Amino acid sequence: MPAPRTPERTRVAIVGGGPAGLLLSHLLHGSGVEHVLLEARTREEIEHTHRAGILEAGAVQALVDAGLDRVLRDGSRHDGIVLRFDGADHRIDLTGLTGRSVWLYPQTDVFVDLANRRAADGADGGAGSSGGSGNTGGTGGSGGDAGGRPDGEVRWGCAVTHVLDGDTDRPGVLWTDPEGDTHELRCDVLIGADGSHSTLRHTLPEAQRRTFVHEYPYAWFGVIVETPRSAPELVYTASEHGFALISQRTDTHQRLYFQCDPDEDPGRWSDDQIWAELQRRVAGPDGFRLVEGPVEERSVLRFRSSVVEPVRHGRMLLAGDAAHTVPPTGAKGLNLALADVVVLHDVLLTWLASGGRAGGAGRGGGAGRASAARAGGAGGAGGAGRGGRPDDAVLDEYGRRVAERVWRAQHFSAWMSGMLHSHPGETGFAARRRLAELRALTASESGRRYLAEGYTGWGPVLGERAP
Ligand SMILES: Cc1cc2nc3c(=O)[nH]c(=O)nc-3n(C[C@H](O)[C@H](O)[C@H](O)COP(=O)(O)OP(=O)(O)OC[C@H]3O[C@@H](n4cnc5c(N)ncnc54)[C@H](O)[C@@H]3O)c2cc1C
Repeated sequence: MPAPRTPERTRVAIVGGGPAGLLLSHLLHGSGVEHVLLEARTREEIEHTHRAGILEAGAVQALVDAGLDRVLRDGSRHDGIVLRFDGADHRIDLTGLTGRSVWLYPQTDVFVDLANRRAADGADGGAGSSGGSGNTGGTGGSGGDAGGRPDGEVRWGCAVTHVLDGDTDRPGVLWTDPEGDTHELRCDVLIGADGSHSTLRHTLPEAQRRTFVHEYPYAWFGVIVETPRSAPELVYTASEHGFALISQRTDTHQRLYFQCDPDEDPGRWSDDQIWAELQRRVAGPDGFRLVEGPVEERSVLRFRSSVVEPVRHGRMLLAGDAAHTVPPTGAKGLNLALADVVVLHDVLLTWLASGGRAGGAGRGGGAGRASAARAGGAGGAGGAGRGGRPDDAVLDEYGRRVAERVWRAQHFSAWMSGMLHSHPGETGFAARRRLAELRALTASESGRRYLAEGYTGWGPVLGERAP
């Protein structure tokens, strides 16, 4: 490994440019807080990786509040979902039961909106373009002054390889640019938004972290197919052959899943076999059939629930999948990532203000907080700014505020998964008990409401505004 050049400094270093990292970068830019985001993959790679598709009303509100409102034009509002069992549909009227809806808006679109906005705001440093040579000794003013360095940079194709001094007030990372050159970045606070395989999480001392994990004995076989929609709303099917989810993407392409063994090899399935499996899972006396067409993509998605506690160690904090993962049945992963970051941004501003920012980082409007955060400039080495040492205990507020939502989502995702999937080696008793649960739940308005509250995201709980 070539010796790093003189360390570059920034106030906030973000590792990972998925939805969590990019939204945080966008929010910090809006608040005038200087930062650098390092993302290992290229934009194009991320743009073409199909993942989540359902946004809770609160997540849509968070995007709209952040000035990203394409979801309202190009997304598709869903007021209900269907639970299908006993070969028949049982609709959950999300909006009628909770007053809230969810939005079908692929994660790739959330990513494109954020990445485009960051680029339009001048953040694209290009792959490794800043090289660590131009910003030594403090970057001075952080407000994105005309003609100056923008207050945040996003660098694609730049992978963090090591965390440096993670337990000090001057943490840092070593990162490599696309040419393979190594650089050092030092910061006042380091954010791990680097997904479920997080490098940063693995540097937290074993003795000071607990990881709660639950593994599942099944996975999802996911396909993208070129067909029109088979049903107006998402259909969650529990059948004697196993679970299937009839989701959607666009007018011409759909996202479908069926339960499979975690070690299934998707390459050994022909298109005909995939359609036959899907059709037998949704079949029923009502004659429902899926519209068939070419299978364009296929993959197996393993299930895992995990939560790391605490999410702060020194001045290193985790957000999104780096801090917790959920099985996809409850459609919660992306939503949790966005919710984390809304809270984290707020806490970071309070923390910066605790270092003596003029005017304080009150909880009023964004503009006030922005100017408060700007007031101290980017600062030089060794602290968050000139106003004094910030109070690191403030950072614990982040973990406290997100924990309730994270654990509710864990419960909801595990509950939905257990209720809808058949378990390998499941006894006849267990299968009939699951069916009884589905029948009792859908027959009861309270049961339907409980599910609808969880699916739409519990409303304005826990640090977020009402949708
Ligand atoms: C098939 C599938 C379907 C899903 N469906 C849903 C759904 O319907 N609803 C829902 O809410 N959620 C769903 N999820 C979950 C959702 O996609 C994730 O929860 C979400 O992507 C989390 O965002 P994130 O920003 O925390 O992490 P990620 O999106 O994983 O982003 C992390 C980023 O960090 C980068 N990175 C990693 N290591 C480094 C490093 N060392 N240096 C620099 N960069 C690094 C990665 O390249 C990546 O771009 C689904 C997931 C999958 C896989």
